[in-house]
Amino acid sequence: MKNETLVNKKKIVIVGGGAGGLELATRLGKKLGKKQRAEITLVDAQNTHFWKPLLHEVAAGSLNAFEDELSYLAQAKWNHFRFIPGKMESINRANKSIGLSPILDGNGQQVVPARTLSYDQLVIAVGSTANDFNTPGAREHCLFLDNRQQAERIHTTLINHYLHAQASGNDASKLRIAIIGAGATGVELAAELHFAAIELARYGLDAIKPEHLEVTIIEGGERILPALPVRISSSVHKQLNKMGIRVMTQQLVSEIQAGGVTTRDGEFIESDLRIWAAGIKAPEFLSQMDGLKTNRINQLIVRPTLQTTLDDQIYSMGDCASCTLTDSKNESITIPPRAQAAHQQASLLAKSLIAQANGAAPLEFNYKDYGSLISLSRFSAVGNLMGAITGDMMIEGTLAKWFYISLYRMHQMTLFGKLRTGTLILKDLISRTTRPQLKLH
Ligand SMILES: Cc1cc2nc3c(=O)[nH]c(=O)nc-3n(C[C@H](O)[C@H](O)[C@H](O)COP(=O)(O)OP(=O)(O)OC[C@H]3O[C@@H](n4cnc5c(N)ncnc54)[C@H](O)[C@@H]3O)c2cc1C
Repeated sequence: MKNETLVNKKKIVIVGGGAGGLELATRLGKKLGKKQRAEITLVDAQNTHFWKPLLHEVAAGSLNAFEDELSYLAQAKWNHFRFIPGKMESINRANKSIGLSPILDGNGQQVVPARTLSYDQLVIAVGSTANDFNTPGAREHCLFLDNRQQAERIHTTLINHYLHAQASGNDASKLRIAIIGAGATGVELAAELHFAAIELARYGLDAIKPEHLEVTIIEGGERILPALPVRISSSVHKQLNKMGIRVMTQQLVSEIQAGGVTTRDGEFIESDLRIWAAGIKAPEFLSQMDGLKTNRINQLIVRPTLQTTLDDQIYSMGDCASCTLTDSKNESITIPPRAQAAHQQASLLAKSLIAQANGAAPLEFNYKDYGSLISLSRFSAVGNLMGAITGDMMIEGTLAKWFYISLYRMHQMTLFGKLRTGTLILKDLISRTTRPQLKLH
């Protein structure tokens, strides 16, 4: 009888254990996996989870990624789901299976061969990467901030520039950094680098004085933070100026070279380091998914139930999904690629898949915009809160910073529960007193 139950158990496979996917796997594991009502499997190309909105802090060194990474195997064990490492590369909808590419070691030797994995219900939550719009030279001459390895590479490159300047003995050395894109990623990174410059000098790497770290943000649109209200954008712009960060708007980048960035107007912005933080696109393999419909940036088009257009058993959520809903004013809204949206979709999908296990129909997603917050490193945060009590309220400074930090704590709460999150907050407070303000190596 036990074997029969195991054989008949529904297989729910979630691909991508990011801001949305890991929350979903954790919720389903606790509700369906624990009671043996379904077999929940999470697949991810990495072995550990790291919350993506913290990447700019890793890049600048204000956060050590090792302290906040979470092993998928451990989370799976604690929450009654299975973790399979692997990168999804294909799907066979007729056979209800996905293909995972081989896992290779650092020398290109095969560690695990290519595999197929069957599913009854599949959730694709593979996130997005920056979109360089095929700008000539971008891939060769820019660093990107799409995952932990890339963030650590930016940090190492930054430290190496400081070490080189220090060894040169020239205490008027300069470091010029160009950031392409003034969305939340570019803006938050610029502020974080400003903080890093102050701290690095304080810890003795002072050949590059804080005022000699020249950060330029280049934005194609009319203003920075184009997706946010004008008042937030203006306030952040002023604060960036106060930090000495140069902001260029209405400047489309036409080419990147080893020594700088050329705009369409023909201006050349010299830079030692270039970081591409503009636009997003979903992974390319999604556009060849056995007929599943995608948009021009490879996002899978989903219905309000988060089911893909052609296949009721395949769902998608988070940055890699394009979901358009109709709001209470009968206006069409496209769900933005944000952690807040991935979190809400994970929560809805968990309820929906549990309801379906009980014989109900799929539930529909309803997005609530609680506002946006932009972190300006330790200095401040700016944003708006949108709620029944607050209305649309702009906040700045320490209060805004607290709300910003609470976003990550909410993610941890979903993954670990209140008690463990409380312990982690305590651990972070204590460890702050025992380590430097910045990762210095
Ligand atoms: C620097 C930065 C700052 C940000 N700040 C904010 C913020 O303040 N607030 C906010 O709301 N949003 C912010 N965002 C956006 C936010 O991070 C994303 O919207 C959110 O992470 C999307 O969640 P997701 O689950 O869709 O994808 P992700 O969190 O990106 O997770 C995708 C997962 O899929 C895995 N994966 C990818 N491809 C494959 C594959 N082929 N096979 C298997 N696994 C795969 C990846 O390893 C990853 O674990 C920020 C983003 C960046 C880069």
